[in-house]
Amino acid sequence: MMYEFKVNEMAEEFGVHRNTIRNWINAGTLPAKEGPGRKYLMKFQDYQILCEKFGREPHFRPDSPIDPATVKPLIKADVEPYLLKNNSSTLTADASWADACMTCGTCASACPISGVDGLDPRKIVRMAVLGMDKELVESSWPWKCTMCAKCEEACPANIKITTLMRKIRGTRERDLVPGPIHKGVQMCLERGNNLGIPKDDFVFLCEELGQELAEAECPGFVTPIDVHGARIMVTVNSKEPFAEPDDMKWWWKIFYAAGESWTIPSEHWEGVNWGLFSGDDVSMKIIVGRIVDNLRRLQCKALLLPE
Ligand code: SF4
Ligand code: SF4
Repeated sequence: MMYEFKVNEMAEEFGVHRNTIRNWINAGTLPAKEGPGRKYLMKFQDYQILCEKFGREPHFRPDSPIDPATVKPLIKADVEPYLLKNNSSTLTADASWADACMTCGTCASACPISGVDGLDPRKIVRMAVLGMDKELVESSWPWKCTMCAKCEEACPANIKITTLMRKIRGTRERDLVPGPIHKGVQMCLERGNNLGIPKDDFVFLCEELGQELAEAECPGFVTPIDVHGARIMVTVNSKEPFAEPDDMKWWWKIFYAAGESWTIPSEHWEGVNWGLFSGDDVSMKIIVGRIVDNLRRLQCKALLLPE
């Protein structure tokens, strides 16, 4: 006995987006085939199994050729094979997401960029639980996501959506990571900061800016480079020494006025860890480790990060 449906009707019936139904069909989770007149055909028993999963009774449309009186109820053995057993995703942190996600869309409502180029956190979660890893890793969505975690905060099922986003980013081949993010990570690993500023240039710049400050507004000011035992160790966003070095003077003036004890390390002073954004946990750990080594070497008590 075959069951005939349109994608939009099925989506409305089960309270999910049309694309979710299409994704289920494409992934083979919903075993339906294209039929005549933009309709799909599936075994009626598979439709019953879907209803069972969503806790619904089968719906018989007035023009349905199926007589409800002839329909046999499901037995447990019919239902079990449907539980997304074909999910081979390596992206989901927890296999229970398949059942926990109610496709309620709360995440999509909370997301500030929902709809941009089709991005929808609900769709991304469903694709992950359906094992559509390749499509997700090749998509641009995780790179458009700002990692703000609003979706995760709003999710009533506690699904770790930002963890999923980072995992998708981290799974992409490094050479295919968009923009300069991966190059920045590599540069930071090789030369100690995202823009590859040599140690001598950085130290020279800081000392020169310090002299300017001493002459203009802060008598006796000397830029504290590698001062052992300073209370605060300050890290720097490499964009500042590269493009707007005078901006650094603003917080130096605050420290000067407050009489703060602080220092900047001469090496590995980069405070922006792009491994966080590229999903590169290994590099991220190395960069964090260098900051911790500096803190120990200089015996500072507190750390200031620029971002
Ligand atoms: S808010 Fe949570 S449960 Fe609702 S669709 Fe998003 S991931 Fe699924
Ligand atoms: S973390 Fe990404 S998907 Fe979630 S709300 Fe923020 S931008 Fe949207």
